[in-house]
Amino acid sequence: MKRIAILGSTGSIGTQALDICRRHPDEYTVSALTARSQREKLFEQVREFRPEMAGLTEGIRPEEIPEDLRFCRWLSGKEALHAAAAEIGADQVLVSIVGIAGLQSVMDALEAGRQVLLANKEALVTGGHLVMDLAARKGITLLPVDSEHSAIFQCLQGAGPNRAEKILLTASGGPFRTWDKERIARATREEALRHPNWNMGAKITVDSASMFNKGLEIMEARWLFDMPEDRIEVVVHPESIVHSAVQFRDGAVLAQLGAPDMRVPIGYAMSYPRRMETGVAAPDLFALGKLTFEKPDPDKFPALRMARECLRASGAACTVFNSANEEANAAFLRGEITFGQIAERVDRALNRLAGLKADCLEEIWEADRLARRMQ
Ligand code: NDP
Ligand code: MG
Repeated sequence: MKRIAILGSTGSIGTQALDICRRHPDEYTVSALTARSQREKLFEQVREFRPEMAGLTEGIRPEEIPEDLRFCRWLSGKEALHAAAAEIGADQVLVSIVGIAGLQSVMDALEAGRQVLLANKEALVTGGHLVMDLAARKGITLLPVDSEHSAIFQCLQGAGPNRAEKILLTASGGPFRTWDKERIARATREEALRHPNWNMGAKITVDSASMFNKGLEIMEARWLFDMPEDRIEVVVHPESIVHSAVQFRDGAVLAQLGAPDMRVPIGYAMSYPRRMETGVAAPDLFALGKLTFEKPDPDKFPALRMARECLRASGAACTVFNSANEEANAAFLRGEITFGQIAERVDRALNRLAGLKADCLEEIWEADRLARRMQ
């Protein structure tokens, strides 16, 4: 039996992880569940999975807890995240909350010696050097949940002592891949939320349309696989079947293929180094017929260029990139700015704040605060 704590259990990744727990009741018990504000959904999950602890970061008063759910310990705010990450007995901590809020939880879980299953890419984007350093000191291998990084991680299992020469990071290209720049700038909320292949939370779906998600993933890959940005190539692959690949010095390329369904990478992280049944069928190559690959268009998707510049600048540039994008993404979802203004706002924040330092968590929080305040 493995005990799993899930931070962000009501989200897209969290619910799919619980789906796997439901399929394998003899292998997983859920020890903690947290959400931000969706209390009814969390109540249902607590009813079904009966964790030791549950929490709402938005807060919950004792009288608001349904009577039949008072068997578990309920916590609020940051205390809930800290307890789920580090205090409650767990073999695995899945960090599937969204945004920079995940950084502290990843650090807490590692500090407590927990096996971290990492969906929250923002933790590596903003504090990659601190996270990787702590993981190394604790002797913990971060198990990636993001599909591309899971693919790379899987390909590297066959690498033995050989170092990968290059990472080929695939991208669907999102719903605006074939649109011209002017039309993209005017795209509506509904158009941005209509992802061709993946069903995900709203924030990452908008990031996929702007390709800010791919910019964040270049940063994530840089830290997870200790690979300089100029050896991480983005390959647009509209079918989302090849989830990424690694290239070796002998000219060999290893790729991982699968249907675009997050239960595969979530399940792999949960059962690593074993594989288990996830409810997902392998892709039918005959039905697919062919797979296609293209270069990304840097003019239409400036996020890729910006992400690379941030990695080269180091310091707090990647935090500013992330936090300005989190704010702009949320403003776009609220209907306050146009799609084209997302990249403009991030660019403006970077021009003013890219020189900030990020040597410790406090400096990262400060860069985060300043980038948000500028919006
Ligand atoms: P969702 O928005 O669907 O879910 C986010 C979860 O985190 C919810 O449980 C939410 O609670 C909770 N949450 C939101 N904000 C906070 C906060 N500030 N503090 C604590 N908890 C919070 O996101 P996704 O599941 O789509 O994504 C989660 C992470 O996984 C992201 O970092 C994303 O980049 C990454 N990822 C997601 C993929 C996907 O397919 N969805 C693919 C690859 C990576 P509530 O429901 O109450 O709001
Ligand atoms: Mg991804």
